[in-house]
Amino acid sequence: MALRKLVAGNWKMNGSLAGLTELDAIAGAASDAVDVAICPPATLISAAVSRQSSLPIGAQDCHWNASGAHTGCLSVAMLAEAGAKLVIVGHSERRTDNHETDAEVKAKASAAIAGGLVAIVCVGETEAQRDAGHAIGVVTAQLQGSVPEVGRGETLVIAYEPVWAIGTGRTPTVADVADMHAAIRQCLRQLLGNEGAKVRILYGGSVKPSNAAELLHIPDVDGALVGGASLKAADFVPIIDAAK
Ligand code: PEP
Repeated sequence: MALRKLVAGNWKMNGSLAGLTELDAIAGAASDAVDVAICPPATLISAAVSRQSSLPIGAQDCHWNASGAHTGCLSVAMLAEAGAKLVIVGHSERRTDNHETDAEVKAKASAAIAGGLVAIVCVGETEAQRDAGHAIGVVTAQLQGSVPEVGRGETLVIAYEPVWAIGTGRTPTVADVADMHAAIRQCLRQLLGNEGAKVRILYGGSVKPSNAAELLHIPDVDGALVGGASLKAADFVPIIDAAK
């Protein structure tokens, strides 16, 4: 089944109020043919929504609790009030830097969906795990631990991001991406039944204008999660166009 593609930008800890001018051209590139979203730092969500109300704006993390003693954290309701429509959870940088477990990622995704946000759940193997031949097993285990039972095609997105491809300029081969996305689809069907066929599976890791078309036309690649190349419209717009 061909799903409508989603191209989402993850600005990580980059960007500023002045830099929101980039959103104008990015919003202009969105069309009926492709969904586009930008996840800036949480401090910029509200201003980003004000600048381009037609462009879905997302967050990069959330807490699973609605409120409480969690210094520095943000609840789903807070993000939604700021105007967020989606949230990335379980990015490998958070799994590494903040020791997030699959169970925590699942709790975050469940809270996000319950709070009306689309959850983008990230999974991906390290280079050592791929070299050892364990890539598909590792990602399948992450999915089994991180995907909420309540996930549906409209509310859940998976981002396959090999850790060794993030920010390195390196990407897996087309065959490796195809194998992994097919395995993810099979796992989603096992976990979610027919809904598993409707959940979009994004590829992420060094997507750039020069490789976007090739990556986005692999079967079961339903879009891209883009880090560095989403910061400037001049790089991101050609990636959006490649998904059309
Ligand atoms: C990411 O971290 O989500 C990502 C895909 O980064 P990059 O595109 O810079 O590799």
